[in-house]
Amino acid sequence: MRKITLSNGQTVEVECLSCAVTSGLIEPDGGTVVETDYFHAHQDVAYPIPGLMILASKRHIKCFDELYEEEKADYIHILTKIRKAQRDVLGIENVYYFYNEDTTHHFHTWMVPRYEWMYEFGRSVESVRPVLLHARNEMNHEENLHKVMKAIDDLRNELRL
Ligand SMILES: [Zn+2]
Repeated sequence: MRKITLSNGQTVEVECLSCAVTSGLIEPDGGTVVETDYFHAHQDVAYPIPGLMILASKRHIKCFDELYEEEKADYIHILTKIRKAQRDVLGIENVYYFYNEDTTHHFHTWMVPRYEWMYEFGRSVESVRPVLLHARNEMNHEENLHKVMKAIDDLRNELRL
């Protein structure tokens, strides 16, 4: 069991954070952006980058080859739909995707938009960790958090079925 402190200060104990979020037990900050029968998307606001999305499966699995056929189809459909919304409403030209199977949670894909300021941390995969740390440590201020929340709302409205 893992002890999670919610944004309202309450603590809950959960087996898996992804299960808690995708099942609705824990409401992520900013809320659910979109969900399907098999997947759930939200922003991890601990990394306040406008348009950053976490796309998690609803089923507790870790590896890509555990996906059922209908989940595979649903995954690529919702992933590309979120990607298009990032472009159409936020003007995001490029996105980095990553996903590690040895997660302590469960199957979730990070969709990290690329912004101009990120290139000072380099290009390609080696810049991702410094970019995320910079966002977490230096961008956690009100003006930026307001942008992040607005991006969440804009994406949610665009993705409303
Ligand atoms: Zn889980």
